[in-house]
Amino acid sequence: MLPTAFPTCLILAMLLLAPARAWSDEPTDSEPQPAVRVTFSDKDEQRTITGRVIVQDQEGGMLLEGQDGRRWVIEAANVLNREVLAAEFTPLTHDQLAEQTLAELPEGFSVHTTPHYVVCFNTSRAFAQWTSSLLERLHRAFTNYWENQGFEVREPEFPLVVIIYATADQYREASREELGSAAGSVIGYYNMLSNHVTMYDLTGAEAMRGDDAGRGSLKEINRMLTQPAAVPLVATVVHEATHQIAFNCGLQERLAEMPLWLVEGMAVYFEAPDLSSSRGWRGIGKVNYPRLRTFKQNMTTTRRLSVADMVADDKRFRESRTAVDAYADAWALNYYLIRYQPDQYVSYIQAMSKKLPLLPETPEARREEFQKHFGDIDDLERDFLKRMSRLK
Ligand SMILES: [Zn+2]
Repeated sequence: MLPTAFPTCLILAMLLLAPARAWSDEPTDSEPQPAVRVTFSDKDEQRTITGRVIVQDQEGGMLLEGQDGRRWVIEAANVLNREVLAAEFTPLTHDQLAEQTLAELPEGFSVHTTPHYVVCFNTSRAFAQWTSSLLERLHRAFTNYWENQGFEVREPEFPLVVIIYATADQYREASREELGSAAGSVIGYYNMLSNHVTMYDLTGAEAMRGDDAGRGSLKEINRMLTQPAAVPLVATVVHEATHQIAFNCGLQERLAEMPLWLVEGMAVYFEAPDLSSSRGWRGIGKVNYPRLRTFKQNMTTTRRLSVADMVADDKRFRESRTAVDAYADAWALNYYLIRYQPDQYVSYIQAMSKKLPLLPETPEARREEFQKHFGDIDDLERDFLKRMSRLK
């Protein structure tokens, strides 16, 4: 049976943290950037962060990025001191980032590092290895895919942190502050401020209950997580990890106003891996059947949003009542555009990747930009529905 519970995603909550007002680019054209040391009040605490300014406003508020890749939105009134350092900004190394992340976590965590990832875990090392190997394969497949499409992907500047809790309870407890009441319903999420993916050991997930044999060797974990019941669980991890990669390899900009049909649709496009393929990610670009099924069910009803409305506004992605439908619409639109307008799609994501953080956009501007790349939106809608209705 195909899983029905492909989840929606909590990256959305993070977008809401951005205050809507005018910010401008830091007035420096020359790379590399100088490091700054900023002391500011953050709720009841005082923090000092060495980093770089991504954007700032005229009053002295800023978006600061730490050497660990974490981003801080700081209002001018909260800046206590700002000092430009003689040194250049440098990201932390794997080892430095591992050390820092471990210091922030409770006792009992270990680290497993791979070329792109720092995985901190308090579950079995085998599961950390299984996860990092999945994510390295995803990273390679993602990079190859976009390079073949003509988009120049860059290496992540910061090692990508993934935190894995041994149990769902520990994970929920630790994520409560970030996720609020939603913590119970998702098995993993990407936070675009911290730049972390947080999850728990899937072999202990409820859907896997009764199969304790999985909590052993790499081979056992593989056997367990290639079962049909595990598909939506693995898909969620891949979905969240795709967000992390897209935001770290130059395809998307954290906290910029990226339309969610694109951000979510792209993650959905990658979320169904073919784990039986040890050499690659053969699933990319395949039809995502659970999403297609929802899309087709809704196609001639009011549950489907027109392309014009989807492009203009993200609201339906943010409301739990409509999110599942919105994700299916987003998958379908990305599938259609990548397939039938691949060059225009790449030029559109190139334009999106240059957007600055924290600059709100009007629905009209979003629709205009879409039409600049893809042509008249009503014509496109007709062709989109025609082609998608034929898809089996
Ligand atoms: Zn998502």
